[in-house]
Amino acid sequence: MSPTRKVTFGLALTPSATHPEHTIAQAQLGERSGFDLVTLLRAPGQVVDGWTLLSWIAGSTERIGLLGQLACLPSEMPTVTAGAAASLDLLSQGRLTLAITSDEPSDDNQHPVEGVEETLDIIRRMWAIGEPGTVRYTGNVHRVDGAQRGPAPAHDVPLLITGDSPELLRLAGEKSDGWLSEINGSSLDRFIAGSTLIGHTAVANGRDPREVPKIVTIRGTFADTRGGFLHGRSADWVDDLLPLIVDHGVTTLLLATEENAVLQQFAEEVAPRLRDAASSLLPAQTRTGRLRKSTAIAQRRSGIRYDDVPDLLVDSAIEPGDFDFPRVKSTYLRGGSPGLVLRTRTVDEVVAALGFAREHPHLPLSIRSGGHGISGRSTNDGGIVINLSLMNRIDVLDEATRRVRIEPGARWMDVAAALQPYGWALTSGDYGGVGVGGLATAGGIGFLGRGHGLTIDHLRAVDMVLADGSRVRASDTENTELFWAVRGAGANFGIVTAFEFEVDEVGDVGWAQLGLDATDTAEFLEKWGHTSEAAPRDTTSFLIMGPPRHGQPALAQLMAMVDSANPDTIIERLQPFANISPLYSQSVQLMPYAAVMANAQGESNGGQGEPVTRSGLLDHITPEFAAAAARLISSGTVYFFQIRAVGGAISDIDADATAYAHRSANFSVVAFGSHRQRLDAAWEELYPFFTGAYLSFETDPRPERLTDAFPPATLARLREVKARLDPDSVFRDNFPISIPTLTEATS
Ligand SMILES: Cc1cc2nc3c(=O)[nH]c(=O)nc-3n(C[C@H](O)[C@H](O)[C@H](O)COP(=O)(O)OP(=O)(O)OC[C@H]3O[C@@H](n4cnc5c(N)ncnc54)[C@H](O)[C@@H]3O)c2cc1C
Repeated sequence: MSPTRKVTFGLALTPSATHPEHTIAQAQLGERSGFDLVTLLRAPGQVVDGWTLLSWIAGSTERIGLLGQLACLPSEMPTVTAGAAASLDLLSQGRLTLAITSDEPSDDNQHPVEGVEETLDIIRRMWAIGEPGTVRYTGNVHRVDGAQRGPAPAHDVPLLITGDSPELLRLAGEKSDGWLSEINGSSLDRFIAGSTLIGHTAVANGRDPREVPKIVTIRGTFADTRGGFLHGRSADWVDDLLPLIVDHGVTTLLLATEENAVLQQFAEEVAPRLRDAASSLLPAQTRTGRLRKSTAIAQRRSGIRYDDVPDLLVDSAIEPGDFDFPRVKSTYLRGGSPGLVLRTRTVDEVVAALGFAREHPHLPLSIRSGGHGISGRSTNDGGIVINLSLMNRIDVLDEATRRVRIEPGARWMDVAAALQPYGWALTSGDYGGVGVGGLATAGGIGFLGRGHGLTIDHLRAVDMVLADGSRVRASDTENTELFWAVRGAGANFGIVTAFEFEVDEVGDVGWAQLGLDATDTAEFLEKWGHTSEAAPRDTTSFLIMGPPRHGQPALAQLMAMVDSANPDTIIERLQPFANISPLYSQSVQLMPYAAVMANAQGESNGGQGEPVTRSGLLDHITPEFAAAAARLISSGTVYFFQIRAVGGAISDIDADATAYAHRSANFSVVAFGSHRQRLDAAWEELYPFFTGAYLSFETDPRPERLTDAFPPATLARLREVKARLDPDSVFRDNFPISIPTLTEATS
């Protein structure tokens, strides 16, 4: 998070020596009373460790920020502190601020300020999970020899410096995210001098002084008569504190008190008046708005008018130097380095983001939902990404008709989990981490495919933002041509902001994983093909093979789903597959569809380089195809070769009913290689067997892939829709459909 200039209020509590629960209760009272932050002062004779007490407070509150204070000792390893602090930030959902100070110089603490600086540096490096390699550091006080980075905190934890020595003040101005100090009646001059030195040092280091906000601890007494600084009525307190905020740039006041009455009087009578007064006296630009760190500004890419990002999007904008950038720059499979990611939360924001992107026609524009696109075009280099991952609601609209509204950032494991309590499922893919936006605009070939069709076959309506920023709904009755195009070629026509599906009743399913001998790979593939086609529609199986390992027999991994909760039916359906060849391993479970889809952990967007795949759709596994595929698998050119059974209900849909037209195919084939040219060359042998391709599994950038994916009539129709709805080719990053030329259009 970048610094802002909102005035906030905190509590500085002195832990009770004997009753830590009192301190916890005070923190809870502070949260209820509207305080923004709580910190613990060091207390002599304290029986519990301050860091543990702060963690307990975190678990006993919901909203209040937590300011941890750390006195650096040479014996305390910053790597350990980094892990503990990041963990507390994660567990408290991004509520931590960390203040670092030096302990008194002593025999074993000869370089107190260096200790602080090194601690700051090491913690930041430990949290930089996007950086390559381990952390190595050699300082005067600390040495780190190859520590694993992480965990990273949930947010950009501000690292404050505490202390008044000129060395610490300079360090605060040069490197910190804020200065924590104390003010009483007699120390105001010292505060002003310190603040001035920090400001000068910040400027000398190319920083905006506002990057180092000032947080001060105050203590006082409420009384009926005025008796000096912070001694008097609430109005006197306001008079004393307002100049600190307005004239001396204090952004946070931490009230040190042990008395609940003082806490409450401050919350009720002082804080609101200070907020109001500050808001009318501070210049508008310092009251709101986001101040980006100068280190982040230095990493901006050329050609993007960062300062013109619309107000609505200021909080959604993630730039290359921002804390969140490593989490959004790459996709699951592809490394990226966009110049700006706009992580939208509402349709209004999507419209604004698209408008901003349109002002940069020279830059790549990517649309990202779950970030699992195999082509990886939902990120780019130097361009703009509209990231819809936070738009991930799943709502049941009507139980009677099983109508469900799903936003594009939802992931299929979450969809499956949300539908399970109703006894429903929506056929999707095989991996729960994949996003709805990309899959539901392309097809959706999954484990329920032969019985329930493609995901797009369940689509009843979409809400979209088109290239010109207009919002439309498309269905069988509104914008029908767009609705046809979205189901198979959606990425070309706009940004889908919500999908409406009619989902199916699906009970527990049989889920099987079999390891089969594939020594005679061609024969095995052929037999599996026949078995698959002969199987009833309630059975869908996928086959995965890789290059044979030295000295080991060729193995095929078969995954099959039987849409039945009857164990006898499940065994009956699976037996023909188990009979294909010797079985090395088997696992068959009766489980909810949602449990099968719960196969992804967290978000994984650490892709690097370029994925290399090819895709083909096939009607039958003929002996000739099986032989060619066997040669490809044994050649070592591919490390992952998968054939999925399709057909069944997918083939019931007319070829011209949706833009996904290759409905006669019974199989979808995908191969992953590590070398583009080698895979393309090897694929030539298989290519003649295919009737089409599935773009969601394709990465070859050549325009011919469009003619593989869309038969001529489909492509011609898509080009007309493209010309009408996206004449400037705003959506052009992921297999762009070209617009017919004037001659083509009139001929
Ligand atoms: C591990 C893995 C397993 C997979 N398994 C299957 C499977 O079983 N079946 C299957 O069919 N596919 C599968 N896929 C492919 C997957 O369906 C597609 O790659 C899909 O695009 C991913 O969707 P996403 O939202 O996660 O992708 P993203 O990377 O976010 O988007 C991919 C592309 O889709 C377009 N797009 C994204 N969101 C929108 C939107 N809201 N509006 C319009 N266009 C949008 C953009 O062009 C974008 O480049 C798998 C992919 C992976 C990585």
